[in-house]
Amino acid sequence: MRAVVARRPANRPDMIPAALPTMQPADWRQAWRDAVRDPRELLALLGLADAVPALSDAAAAQFPLRVPRGFVARMRHGDPADPLLRQVLPLDEELRPVPGFSLDAVGDAAARSAHGVIHKYAGRALLVATGSCAVHCRYCFRRHFPYAQETAAADGWREAVAAITADPSIGEVILSGGDPWSLGTPKLAELTGQLAAIPHVRRLRVHTRLPIVLPARVDDALLAWLRALPWPVVVVVHANHAREFDAAVDGAMAALRAVGCTLLNQAVLLRGVNDDADSLAALSEQSFDAGVLPYYLHQLDRVAGAAHFEVDDATARALHASLRARLPGFLVPRLVREVAGDPSKRPL
Ligand SMILES: *Cc1c(COP(=O)(O)O)cnc(C)c1O
Ligand code: SF4
Repeated sequence: MRAVVARRPANRPDMIPAALPTMQPADWRQAWRDAVRDPRELLALLGLADAVPALSDAAAAQFPLRVPRGFVARMRHGDPADPLLRQVLPLDEELRPVPGFSLDAVGDAAARSAHGVIHKYAGRALLVATGSCAVHCRYCFRRHFPYAQETAAADGWREAVAAITADPSIGEVILSGGDPWSLGTPKLAELTGQLAAIPHVRRLRVHTRLPIVLPARVDDALLAWLRALPWPVVVVVHANHAREFDAAVDGAMAALRAVGCTLLNQAVLLRGVNDDADSLAALSEQSFDAGVLPYYLHQLDRVAGAAHFEVDDATARALHASLRARLPGFLVPRLVREVAGDPSKRPL
């Protein structure tokens, strides 16, 4: 930006350069509204009209396509097997019933303790802050979750804050969803203002895919909110493939680090997306270059509609072993699965 300003002609100090190097529309809400929702438009943008016979309108009716244009721009033109495209494109295979794949794969219904609060693990309460996401990932374990009734923000956070206040064992509040950063910053500040009065809360965590899929969300208002929070903040982003990082994403990560956030990445092991050692190693390296350490590599939750993404455990372990053999330890994510009723994610 400085270089652009310096090149302003001296006689036109107010001239705004025609081609500012912005990769995203400046207003994240505008970019949000502008997301691609029509599968045929998505394929046409990629030069793939009529090239994907497995495209399914019925799957899209069950869980609609949604993908920000900045993310589409990172997909490879003309490649129906592109790993970013595969994460968002509704396909026939989703409608095939597969034994063992169910609607509530991780036992969330049983673990909910208050309006939008899931308290499964010691010391940590997870808030289903909202049901909205900027991108719809086909493998998502919450694709069948009854969001409308169950979000913590719906009642001005009242029940969620009451549940956290009443339980002194909760030291960490995790904002999850949906994507919590799909809420406006004032709504987030409304929550953290209430949490600030609870003496046993010592840490805030945010699980969000927005810095990856719509980095314009990391705007000045969000950064000012983060800078003013009274606790250390951990931001766990979600990228599954190295090509999900671009210059705009790197910029968002640098800005989050500059306000003191600790940045981690969780990925899901997905067939046809990242189920080879080269892809996983590149993801770790690319994350690190952006200032993000790998945290978890999740075995897929067995949610109805996602069976075609599953990688068997033997393959997952072999991939993880080859990551250990080629990367420094801090770039090897923990390979885990979520098992209903367990006190933590279960290492494989
Ligand atoms: C995954 C998860 C957490 C966080 O677990 P960590 O191992 O601390 O990352 C917390 N609550 C719920 C309900 C979860 O599913
Ligand atoms: S961003 Fe996360 S919560 Fe939203 S659809 Fe993707 S995996 Fe699911």
